[in-house]
Amino acid sequence: MRSGGHPAGGRKENPLDASATISFMPRPIAALIHPDAIAHNLRQARRQAPDARLWAVIKANAYGHGIERVWSGVLGADGMALLDLAEAVRVRALGWRGPVLLLEGVFEPRDLELCSRLNLWHVVHCDEQIGWLASHKTHQPHRVFLKMNSGMNRLGFRGPALRSAWARLNALPQVDEISLMTHFSDADALRFGADGIAHQVEAFAEATRDLPGERSLSNSAAILRHGQQLEVRADWVRSGILSYGSAPDYPTHDAAHWQLLPAMTLRSQVIATQELMAGDSVGYGSAFRATGPMRIGIVACGYADGYPRHAPGGSDGPGTPVLVDGVRTRTVGRVSMDMLVVDLTALPQAGIGTEVTLWGHGPRGNLLPVDEVARAAGTLSYELLCALAARVPVQVQGAEG
Ligand SMILES: *Cc1c(COP(=O)(O)O)cnc(C)c1O
Repeated sequence: MRSGGHPAGGRKENPLDASATISFMPRPIAALIHPDAIAHNLRQARRQAPDARLWAVIKANAYGHGIERVWSGVLGADGMALLDLAEAVRVRALGWRGPVLLLEGVFEPRDLELCSRLNLWHVVHCDEQIGWLASHKTHQPHRVFLKMNSGMNRLGFRGPALRSAWARLNALPQVDEISLMTHFSDADALRFGADGIAHQVEAFAEATRDLPGERSLSNSAAILRHGQQLEVRADWVRSGILSYGSAPDYPTHDAAHWQLLPAMTLRSQVIATQELMAGDSVGYGSAFRATGPMRIGIVACGYADGYPRHAPGGSDGPGTPVLVDGVRTRTVGRVSMDMLVVDLTALPQAGIGTEVTLWGHGPRGNLLPVDEVARAAGTLSYELLCALAARVPVQVQGAEG
């Protein structure tokens, strides 16, 4: 038998392929997903809307957490709401036989075939979608959620048009059951100084008064802030951001107020330290300038990991909160692609390898709410969670291995 002339016995070794012989750790950054926190948060939603069935809104890959990774946490919901057909396929592949709702309905006529095949319920928000249904060949009539535009002015039919849409759908053999839904624009706050949802609740009640069918109104903010209001009670509520442990009305209320727990921790490590003297600056643009001696830590996390580049760290402000070894401190200087910098002046024991919590659960049992980081950076928790970059290794807490 010919060995091919290689000493290893025929298998050609590539001397540059170190992965075959040397084991190595990835860069010291990781996201940790906490499915138990999601289960807990969904129980909080149920407490606020005890009579309603609960949609777990898992669009955008479960708000960046990963549908498969959060799966054990969302199983307690009554249905899965999302908008990407590929995500609906994944949910069925996970073995979910319960309701799945496409929050924007179908985007083109042939999507209806998948709805028939996988028994997906879908929103109907425009005349075109009704037309597509009317030409759809199926033996399996669909359950649809007819969407009213009660004031958000994105998707849905306004009052009178809603009634004719309902009548058209009701006449279609392709349609089995028609439910009614709307979406609030200001459930997290006041609107023009008054109750944020009253005008939409009123418009919805008026337009749907004598129409039969189940109702779905509330998002996270409405579940928590208005869930007890009689007019807002519905057959289905839609729990999105609250499931992931962020307060939908931050900073009016924080996650602790609503008894929510973070479903994602983003953590990394210090990879270098520097001693600064008065007048020294930090990072690109020298946005931070030391006024006296200080110690800083360089952290393996940057905007290419999903950390917001706009998180402030300039000399003129308090920086962005961060935990180092579980102790609260602040960022200094601009966030760059792969690194950010933290103030270690009050943390003399911190050095290379010290754990840094960008948001979520700290190593000492304390929390850094993603809402605080988002606010400092001028954005929302939604954006930060959804922006977790693909290069960040993800671990699921409680998972084996
Ligand atoms: C995303 C979405 C929700 C969930 O919103 P949250 O604020 O995250 O609770 C509810 N309803 C619809 C129609 C949505 O698109």
